[in-house]
Amino acid sequence: MTIDWERAYSEHNNQSIILPLKWNPFAVRRVHDLLHCERCGECCKYGRVPVTQVDVDRAPEIAPYIQREGERGFLITKGGCPFLKDNLCSIYDRRPDVCWLFPMQTPITTDGREMIVLRLKCRSALSAAQVLYSEAKCQTVPSAPDSN
Ligand code: SF4
Ligand code: SF4
Repeated sequence: MTIDWERAYSEHNNQSIILPLKWNPFAVRRVHDLLHCERCGECCKYGRVPVTQVDVDRAPEIAPYIQREGERGFLITKGGCPFLKDNLCSIYDRRPDVCWLFPMQTPITTDGREMIVLRLKCRSALSAAQVLYSEAKCQTVPSAPDSN
């Protein structure tokens, strides 16, 4: 039996999908290597990107565009990140960590395990998920909670 990806895609409401991989540095690297950005720029129009002081230290030019909420900071990207030029990131080598990770999401816990979640909004996510599910010989795709 093989996974009906079209069905899995619609069942997951085009939102996110849990990978058959526990969150660890090697797995994150593996997923990152499988993602082939198509430069659609969609991830840079989300709304806001959580950033840390490390991100600001690496790319000080993002500081004027950060909105603070208590201890947390967000780079405001609604309508298009100020650093998106011709659908390319103008600070690509110094982009915030969350941008580097996208479409990987903060790990969630299922059955006590922290797994990697991929946002299907990214065009490269589905093909990476298919490769990883095939490698793991999985026949079902578990549900992932909705995330925005
Ligand atoms: S959504 Fe995915 S394919 Fe599009 S620019 Fe972002 S990382 Fe690249
Ligand atoms: S910093 Fe770069 S990768 Fe991150 S949202 Fe802005 S343009 Fe996109």
